[in-house]
Amino acid sequence: MAVYWNGPPGWPTPPTGWLPPAGWRPPAHWPAAPSDWVFLIEVDDSVPAPAPARRQSHRGAWVMAATVAVLALVAGALVGRGLDPRQSAEAVAPQATVQPAAPMTPAATAPAEPAPAISVQAPPSPNLEVFAEPVEPARPPDFPPPGVGEQPRRLLAKVPFNGSSDWAAMTTNPDGSAAGFSPCRQWQVVVNLAGAPAGAYDLVAGVVATVRQATGVAFVLEGTTDEPASAEATRRAYQPERYGERWAPILIGWAPSTAENAAGQGGPQGVTESETGLTHYVTGFVAIDPDGSSNSDPVTLRAILLHELAHVVGLNHVPDPTQLMAPVYQDQREFQRGDLAGLAAVGSGSCSPDL
Ligand SMILES: [Zn+2]
Repeated sequence: MAVYWNGPPGWPTPPTGWLPPAGWRPPAHWPAAPSDWVFLIEVDDSVPAPAPARRQSHRGAWVMAATVAVLALVAGALVGRGLDPRQSAEAVAPQATVQPAAPMTPAATAPAEPAPAISVQAPPSPNLEVFAEPVEPARPPDFPPPGVGEQPRRLLAKVPFNGSSDWAAMTTNPDGSAAGFSPCRQWQVVVNLAGAPAGAYDLVAGVVATVRQATGVAFVLEGTTDEPASAEATRRAYQPERYGERWAPILIGWAPSTAENAAGQGGPQGVTESETGLTHYVTGFVAIDPDGSSNSDPVTLRAILLHELAHVVGLNHVPDPTQLMAPVYQDQREFQRGDLAGLAAVGSGSCSPDL
């Protein structure tokens, strides 16, 4: 195992290979590190170092798009036996509904330079949902400094692929690989507990750990936030005023669903290099409907959190109802063989030092 320095947002980047000497303390004027920040990362040396990445500094060449998917509930199985009108309606319409895949909010001020020619690529046709045409932003959103926390190789060993084809990617790259988060840095997750049931934080912590293990990507629960949760898919991927100079952490929270019968919604936000068509995700969100009956049952809530976070890390729905990534929850409580194959695949992508 080798150890790498993982500087927090806003700290100067030391020379490659630098490690803090014994007793070293950061200068007092450096910004405080996020709580639970892991400063030293152990890297599995058995993982081969990636080929040197080609630097891509022209940010106009990147486009951002957000996708969102929802998990609906089968009313009869989980909403109880009551037959009030709302539940009856759920029983006849359990499928997920259309969600706009809104990209980043365009900057409010006029661009200081001519807007580069960009195009937002629509997500691929998913199995059981229809995505609206994304709205093209006036210009690419502001990006954080490139490669915050990025290391020269993946942090955790690749998860062995079990060979199942019973999974689907949210976005498939032109080379056929599944888009995902860089496995070469930590990705923070924050949770807004407003509207959450008791015990939700521990549930989220366990779910993040499960997804980390299944993907081999270092997702880390950083703590709580007061950033409002929303299922609208309009979240800004870079919020330096709140989170410092890094991509905004993945946000998990409780907010009313925008899709009928959806117990939860979630999806990634990614950046696509227009030259290569390669997409890397940089953040995402999960919104759990606080009024959903699933929210009162920890077993169901955990399953929905797993499903939605799997959307965030890059999995789409599959028709097989036994998989946790089926669009309808029917008491699947854990990731199944196809889900696990997909999670291993989205976690086996390349580093993203330019993002
Ligand atoms: Zn879903």
